[in-house]
Amino acid sequence: MTTTLSQQIYKNGLAKPVIAAGGSVHPLIIPADLSGTGLMNPSVYVDGQTILVNLRHVNYTLWHSEHKKFEHRYGPLQYLHPENDIHLRTWNYMCVMNPDLTIKQVTKVDTSAHDKEPIWEFVGLEDARLVRWDHKLWLTGVRRDTTTHGEGRMELSEINMFLDRVSEDSRKRIPALGDNTSYCEKNWMPVLDQPFTYVKWTNPTEVVKYDINTGQTHTIVAATGPRIPGVPDFRGGSQVIPYGDNYIALVHETNLFNSPAGKKDATYRHRFVMWDRSWKLLAYTDAFSFMNADIEFCCGAAWYDNHLLVTFGFQDNCAFVLKIPRTFVDEFIQQANYTTPAIPAPAEPVKQKWQNYPAPTLEITTIIPEKGCVVDCVFCPQRTLEEVYKGTRILTLDAFKTIVDKVPTDVRITFAGFTEPWMNKYCTDMVVYAHEQGHPISVFTTGVGVSVEDMEAIVDIPFAGNPNGGFVLHLPDAEMLARHPITPSYLKTLEWIRDNQHRIKNFSVMSMGKELHPSIRHIFDWAPSYDMWSRAGNLIRESVAKPQLITLRDRWNAITHTGPKTCGCVEGLYHNVLLPNGDVSLCCMDYGLEHIIGNLNTQTYEDVIPEDQTCYDLCNFCENATDPKEKTITFHR
Ligand code: SF4
Ligand code: SF4
Repeated sequence: MTTTLSQQIYKNGLAKPVIAAGGSVHPLIIPADLSGTGLMNPSVYVDGQTILVNLRHVNYTLWHSEHKKFEHRYGPLQYLHPENDIHLRTWNYMCVMNPDLTIKQVTKVDTSAHDKEPIWEFVGLEDARLVRWDHKLWLTGVRRDTTTHGEGRMELSEINMFLDRVSEDSRKRIPALGDNTSYCEKNWMPVLDQPFTYVKWTNPTEVVKYDINTGQTHTIVAATGPRIPGVPDFRGGSQVIPYGDNYIALVHETNLFNSPAGKKDATYRHRFVMWDRSWKLLAYTDAFSFMNADIEFCCGAAWYDNHLLVTFGFQDNCAFVLKIPRTFVDEFIQQANYTTPAIPAPAEPVKQKWQNYPAPTLEITTIIPEKGCVVDCVFCPQRTLEEVYKGTRILTLDAFKTIVDKVPTDVRITFAGFTEPWMNKYCTDMVVYAHEQGHPISVFTTGVGVSVEDMEAIVDIPFAGNPNGGFVLHLPDAEMLARHPITPSYLKTLEWIRDNQHRIKNFSVMSMGKELHPSIRHIFDWAPSYDMWSRAGNLIRESVAKPQLITLRDRWNAITHTGPKTCGCVEGLYHNVLLPNGDVSLCCMDYGLEHIIGNLNTQTYEDVIPEDQTCYDLCNFCENATDPKEKTITFHR
């Protein structure tokens, strides 16, 4: 199969495909007698025809054990400061660049007119982004040395450049919103063409403006919009720069976890995001690294000569400019995840009912053992399923292939169903086969039964994301609401996934409880938990066989509707569930198998799936239901 640009970037880091496409990467090195080591997190700005780069210089060295083999005695991620100074200090150096991206002139920014004795251990203006607002050049970053507890606030330093010096002519500390009591505000992304305006958060988007006359900060766009589910927090990165009629920026995300020795560790990844001019988040790429390191950070982006210049730091120890052809950026953003599906006019009248929806899906139940799913989660109606299912227990690989061959390739194949899919030893072969046939693939797994070899076999599959997709790893919780068998090989698989999660497209974790099980917290230390629902009433039935559900009654919701109801899910009625005997159940709520809509051993896919907006009894007990009169079908294809 051909590899998309997005997949190449995901696998190799951004720099290699950029170079292969005619771009280039340029180290930013200044004379050692000016700064010594510790150059990082540069920010680029094109001022008229002049390329400026602000280069952050620090007095410390970061040590990060990338392969977890040679940790520092205090952990894999350590800041090593000089023996005679416990502070972590930052100075800024302004570079004027040549058009070939070598440094023409470098000058330390003289901040002496505004410096005060620092009273916290992080000293100086950190990760300063360059902008020109109201005809003045500014560095805007975070400073944490003005209070004894390290409060962080974004600051604006007005910069003047002379032939022989660069000076900070004024300094403004930007208050946080509201009562200005938050602890640390940082990585706000300055909007290049909107003076004193910042994107503070991205998912959902929050935009703020600093009033330079009153010294107040107020909200332009409140972070009240829908949150893109299944992705980490997007944190600030580069400046926000125009892109045609839209804006783009590079954001970063962090994964904080503990090393095998229980010490703090982290990985950083970046994404391009795109907004329209009213700050609707339109698209976001998959998360990527620049040079396949765990610690990288971008705080600059600027257009120059039909290229995008992106500046980033590598392991807090060196700094680079990546020069990316505009066409490359266009292609990468075209392959991004769009928050609203594109709606091209259909070339011909729509004939197939499932094609009215953006992500028709067939979930695969690979096995239904007599005693149900091995994980036996308390909020899962396994006793109900055991009682009603009497067919073939194991889906064979051959039967799976025969069925998948009947399913149109625009139907997503999701490995989830009514039990843990990797209880079937051929699950990995099924995933690979469905992918090779051209289906979008998603996975929901507990990791139980998954080996490192299984993960190696499927890791490069570009798992389809929203709606209701991705590669979702359900982790064990401290209360044992889910009862994963936690074995040495299970832990080994989790560790592999932790170390390679950047390679798994649309990866996320979840758990049923508020805290993760203590035996895995050194691998993943946190996962979101979601509201539990009655599975369209099936948990009420399950309570008879599982009294624990009654004692936990305040932990799950139930709903009853009156009047006929159909499905309000994004996929409509086309997120059906295959059983090992070929039967197809209406949806993943139907653990009681009330609505078997057909059989894919004996019928075609088109014959099995329901008509649009059919109403089902089960929907009357489901939080996803809607009134068919209120539901209009949007033709997406
Ligand atoms: S929720 Fe998933 S893992 Fe838990 S018992 Fe049900 S099918 Fe198994
Ligand atoms: S029960 Fe009905 S409304 Fe609920 S998910 Fe299934 S089809 Fe949709």
